[in-house]
Amino acid sequence: MLLPPPPSSLAQALAPGGSAGPGARAAGPELEDAAGLREQQQDEEAAERGRAGAMAGCTQRVPAGTNLEPDGASSEAEAAASAAQEAREDACPRWGAQHAGARELAELYSPGKRLQEWISVILCFSLMAFNFYNLIFCVRWEHAFSVVAGILAGVITADFVSGLVHWGADSWGSVELPIVGKAFIRPFREHHIDPTAITRHDFIETNGDNCMLTVVPLANMAYKLVSLSPEALHQACPWECYVFALAVFVTLTNQIHKWSHTYFGLPSWVVFLQDWHIILPRKHHRIHHVSPHETYFCITTGWLNYPLEKIGFWRFLENIIQRLTGEKPRADDMKWAQKIK
Ligand SMILES: [Zn+2]
Ligand SMILES: [Zn+2]
Repeated sequence: MLLPPPPSSLAQALAPGGSAGPGARAAGPELEDAAGLREQQQDEEAAERGRAGAMAGCTQRVPAGTNLEPDGASSEAEAAASAAQEAREDACPRWGAQHAGARELAELYSPGKRLQEWISVILCFSLMAFNFYNLIFCVRWEHAFSVVAGILAGVITADFVSGLVHWGADSWGSVELPIVGKAFIRPFREHHIDPTAITRHDFIETNGDNCMLTVVPLANMAYKLVSLSPEALHQACPWECYVFALAVFVTLTNQIHKWSHTYFGLPSWVVFLQDWHIILPRKHHRIHHVSPHETYFCITTGWLNYPLEKIGFWRFLENIIQRLTGEKPRADDMKWAQKIK
């Protein structure tokens, strides 16, 4: 891979067999940085190695689930193959912030879009706080089981919704579509050719669109919480807890997604949630970032990725849509990946 060489202070730690092994996270800030840098490079390499679908003749696609970790000493044949591949890759545009398509997509982020994101974030988080405060007063002990079941179902539904929206935006439509193209499809195209750009987005840019999705359901819930009688509210409590958990996890999906690409400075509680697969783990999401980005679309908890892949759910939907419309999935995604100027 032609990634920039690591800073010399980290080079030794990054070398195979070097001092940055398991447990480096606890071994001091410098080694923590080394481990983070190494993982981030693997993240980018996964995308680089697999982009044959987009860059025919440049690299070979790595099938989903393939172990993307470096496997230590490589044979001479592998080294020669790797050198030949790097020579071929010199002729291809690089994945990342310098990619021509990524630069053009980043420039399409407009002040109007920024305003829409600010309004969505303020409305969404205000409604969420208001609903949470009112909801805790309607929970009763006799509903405890159904409330917990409702919350769990809400989280699973949010994971499915994240997959459906992500799959839809990745696979169909184009940046040229009026209004929705630049505003909502553009970030998905940018993310595939510059996966770490999301880690440089601030809170508003990261969460604005998801907040917009949940404003109407949260406003509807707020209306119910102030207008229903106390008895009707107690009856509706498990359902409202389901809707609230769904709204909260849909809102947080892109923040969780951003964390899955972040290898430096994550709070320890976020790393704990990732390590226990309560939210999307970093290695798990890397499987999606292998071109042509055709599986593992769920990005909230990622719990549904394996079962949906096993039953061929996304391919099934794509075949139906392709038959009905004649459109090929991810044609626009491929087009942006191939941009060289
Ligand atoms: Zn994607
Ligand atoms: Zn991603």
